[in-house]
Amino acid sequence: MRFAPRTSGVYETLKAQIDLAELVGQFAELEDRGNTKDCFCPINEQSSKNPAFKIYDDSFYCFSCEAHGDVTSFWKLIHGFASNWDAAQDLARKYNIELPQMDPEARKRYEERRQREEGWAWAAQANHERLLGGSASARKAREYLTDRGFTEEHWRRFQLGVDAAGQRVTIPYWSGGQIHGQVARALGDDLVPKYLYPKADEFALKRRTLFMQDSPRSQEYLLVEGFFDQLASEALGLPAIAAGSAGFSKEQTADLLDMAKKGATFVISRDKDERGRERAQDMLESSTRTPASCPTCQAMVRTLPTSTGSTAKRRRTRYATLWRRAKTP
Ligand SMILES: [Zn+2]
Repeated sequence: MRFAPRTSGVYETLKAQIDLAELVGQFAELEDRGNTKDCFCPINEQSSKNPAFKIYDDSFYCFSCEAHGDVTSFWKLIHGFASNWDAAQDLARKYNIELPQMDPEARKRYEERRQREEGWAWAAQANHERLLGGSASARKAREYLTDRGFTEEHWRRFQLGVDAAGQRVTIPYWSGGQIHGQVARALGDDLVPKYLYPKADEFALKRRTLFMQDSPRSQEYLLVEGFFDQLASEALGLPAIAAGSAGFSKEQTADLLDMAKKGATFVISRDKDERGRERAQDMLESSTRTPASCPTCQAMVRTLPTSTGSTAKRRRTRYATLWRRAKTP
């Protein structure tokens, strides 16, 4: 069962209840391409001969006019509403959806958050386009991702990219279906630090959210340290949440407990090296510190297969065995 995140509001409600492809399909003829549904841009006249407007599950991007966003963004652009808020109210009326009530102060904070999310989504899209381009740094970034076992389908699904300097692979910081920030990993070993993270107040919610692609559900999640481990698990169909090298923050732990109360359970995996073990232990302790308030939280520690090489094949094998081993007592 999918449940709305604690922080859900007007836009998340619309996104969860309206099928973007069905909505766009009222304005243009869609072609089903598997990963995307494509059409000629219904917002602005396009000059190219091929459908430039692409729908990825619950978001869209137009390669002609660069319009992008979700159901509310689409409704705003197609009808020329002055604000997302006005577009959302109109869209809710059309679909007879009851939106959460918000006082003016809460609405102001929520609107600011939406703007930050749009900024991060825009940055992710630009980096992603760069990754698919013909530059030398784009080729290097694609080789790096391929070596880690990620195929083009994964680059598109997670909107992986390369930064403007061509020095780092960018990973959008997903949280509940929105992009809340960006993690950047150095392409070369001589570039430090290896990972760049947003500061707490740069996140869309002004705090570190849980790194997970979809909205929380009442199901089992693998807790992993690395962001690439999280992507690999998701790519294999194993829902996962990444802690990052700093471990889970107090607020992230509160989010995990909130999920546990709604029926989610967690399995902790750890690396075999000493530092990885310590971090896994920290994760375990922070998620089970208040077991009374979290009766359904079943945290376990398992050891991953030892790493000996760095080939893509070994990584894939490692990820494939991850979940099975994590669940074996
Ligand atoms: Zn367009």
